[in-house]
Amino acid sequence: MRLLAPKLVKQLQGCKRRTLQVGGRVDNHATLDDLWDLIDEHGWICAYCGNPLTADTAAIDHRIPLKISHDSSKNNLVLACRACNAEKHDAPSMFWPVRWSKSS
Ligand SMILES: [Zn+2]
Repeated sequence: MRLLAPKLVKQLQGCKRRTLQVGGRVDNHATLDDLWDLIDEHGWICAYCGNPLTADTAAIDHRIPLKISHDSSKNNLVLACRACNAEKHDAPSMFWPVRWSKSS
């Protein structure tokens, strides 16, 4: 079921702004549909610690930090809890492997 998730929509817009700021491409920027695909794939769980998320607590995280990758396409995004997102900060996810997805 696709809920209304105004906070995620807002994050996605902020993400586009930051991508432009770092000189990244926005022609392949994740859309809201991409975000829902991501949620379909991973479920409402943090990609790093596996804690349950809600539309209010989920944070959009760049697997490879935007500063390095300049990439906000769907392939570089996961949903994380605020604690993991804050703790991970700019560390690339090679140090923070994505451990949780519905398919694994
Ligand atoms: Zn987490």
